[in-house]
Amino acid sequence: MQKQEALERLHKIDQDIKHLDQVSALLQWDQETYMPSAAVEGRSEQLALLEGIKHEKFTDPEIGKLLEQLASDDKDLPDIERDFLRVFRKQYNRAIALPADLVTEAARAEGLSQAAWVEARKNNDYKTFIPHLEKMIGYAKKKAEYWGYSGHPYDGLLDIYEPGMTESVIEGVFVPLRDRLARLVQRIGEKPAPRSDFLSREFPVDLQAQFGEQVMKDLSYDFTQGRLDISAHPFTTTLGPRDVRITTRYFPQNMLSGLFSIIHESGHALYEMGFADHIRDTSLGDGASMGIHESQSRLWENVVGRSYAFWKGQYARLQGLFQSQLTDVSLDVFYAAVNRVQPSLIRVDADEVTYSLHVILRFELERKLFSGDLSVADLPEAWNTMMYAILGVRPDSDANGVLQDVHWSMGAFGYFPSYALGNLYGLQLWETLKAQNPNTERHIEQKNYVPVLEWLRSNVHIHGCRYEPGDLILRVTGRPLSAEPFIHYLEQKYGQLYSL
Ligand code: ZN
Repeated sequence: MQKQEALERLHKIDQDIKHLDQVSALLQWDQETYMPSAAVEGRSEQLALLEGIKHEKFTDPEIGKLLEQLASDDKDLPDIERDFLRVFRKQYNRAIALPADLVTEAARAEGLSQAAWVEARKNNDYKTFIPHLEKMIGYAKKKAEYWGYSGHPYDGLLDIYEPGMTESVIEGVFVPLRDRLARLVQRIGEKPAPRSDFLSREFPVDLQAQFGEQVMKDLSYDFTQGRLDISAHPFTTTLGPRDVRITTRYFPQNMLSGLFSIIHESGHALYEMGFADHIRDTSLGDGASMGIHESQSRLWENVVGRSYAFWKGQYARLQGLFQSQLTDVSLDVFYAAVNRVQPSLIRVDADEVTYSLHVILRFELERKLFSGDLSVADLPEAWNTMMYAILGVRPDSDANGVLQDVHWSMGAFGYFPSYALGNLYGLQLWETLKAQNPNTERHIEQKNYVPVLEWLRSNVHIHGCRYEPGDLILRVTGRPLSAEPFIHYLEQKYGQLYSL
């Protein structure tokens, strides 16, 4: 087979796998939004069947032969094809690296572990979860061995979510970040809290939806290529080359929750809608990493959506929709409430300042679990002690402490850092964007978000996952990953808000 022919064959296989993924995503989207509850069992079987077909296709020995043939001489291929081969080869190698019996065994244990976690959390009974968590760590270690790593076993897991990222690089940015954030939280805590009573007034859900959809349009979310629906947990999903949907949920007495979920998910969706056309339906049409994906959602949600400039542009309309709820609330009072800082026990409820501390805590505990410096039995005490040290709050129960997140019960170790890395990537990009576009704030005040989106499109979105996150950040900002822009942004913004 000629080289060109082999490459075309590989592209065809890649596209078929991508389409199978999209069909699964459609079934899952339906399950989370409109599917009647009695259909759960049938749907699981449909999804399992698709998963099996996909696995079979992806581990076909033909792929190995094609990759081998193309590996021997890819010198004269265009860069984009070499990037495609690199990404495809990595996925293929990961899929075939694990012995089939390990995959089956781990999947079964994962099911049991998740069920045990649900019970343990409900009954606040960590002890019953210990043997499951030990098993999950054991499987993760085994998988990391098969996948391979150069430094720490934890690196083998990180690479799934943040290609090329290592424990030592993350430690280098997280440790100074932790200390400076903890100090900032402490200083904020010494100041009076801003007024926020009006946020729990009754905000009719249909009006919330009306406002949220208008914000999506303002942000250039394209409703001919997507839609907004309601689900228990907000998410973004890509169902085809021109079909990127988001969901949110509304609470009558917590208007900010639904709105900021919409902005957050729109950020994810704008990223997926912005992949270059020629990579959109290939393996390169994907986020560069979990963290880069989060950088996009958090940049829109926090850096833009919680800025004074944003509300200067949007507040009159919000006040117009909610006249009785917001009549006694000025723009300045609203802005301060949107950004109030309150150390809390639960990661998903955390504000912009404390959020990364929740993530750093999990990162530090995970590495200790993997290096053997911390036993599963001692985990709750380690959690509570560290939480008090960096956030000044101590969990009243394991259910609100070590048992609060689902990730560990699923064996998803190495995933948490992406959440905080997203903040760091986002601010590093934002700093460069602002240096190149000094009028950004004025545009945002005028509800013109196009220059921000266009900059992100041409610097980040169009590349999909052609570059690993570290390379992408260096390429766009001229500097390696750093926590400085994020810390500087928080110290400035909250220094003003809280008169520090
Ligand atoms: Zn997100």
